[in-house]
Amino acid sequence: MPQPDCLFCKIAAGQIPAKLVHQDDDAVAFVDINPQAPTHLLVIPRKHVATANDLAPEDEALVGKLLRLAAKLAAERGIAESGWRAVLNTNRGAGQTVFHLHLHLLGGRQMSWPPG
Ligand code: AMP
Ligand code: ZN
Repeated sequence: MPQPDCLFCKIAAGQIPAKLVHQDDDAVAFVDINPQAPTHLLVIPRKHVATANDLAPEDEALVGKLLRLAAKLAAERGIAESGWRAVLNTNRGAGQTVFHLHLHLLGGRQMSWPPG
């Protein structure tokens, strides 16, 4: 069920504009409003899941779909071979600010490790 006050539920429903790059029955992807790399997309499930801590057994296929979608989008943008990073921040200590599960897809520049 969509959460009435959730920004990413509203983007998925088309109630708030975003630069959408993919939509299907289960997932939506759009350009991050504050990009941290030349490619910075957010891949989200339409289903509202607040954090990775809240994933249920029945969400396993959905999570696999999100990761495969990120790989497909990376390939379409020509960064599959040069390299890309999927980031899933969970809760505030890890930097999560929007509490609707999202994969950051980052690429197009050299990444450093460890992350800050
Ligand atoms: P996180 O900090 O992992 O929760 O990531 C939230 C991300 O959402 C940040 O990278 C923000 O720049 C991005 N963001 C916030 N509002 C919007 C929006 N309206 N459209 C696109 N991206 C957004
Ligand atoms: Zn939501």
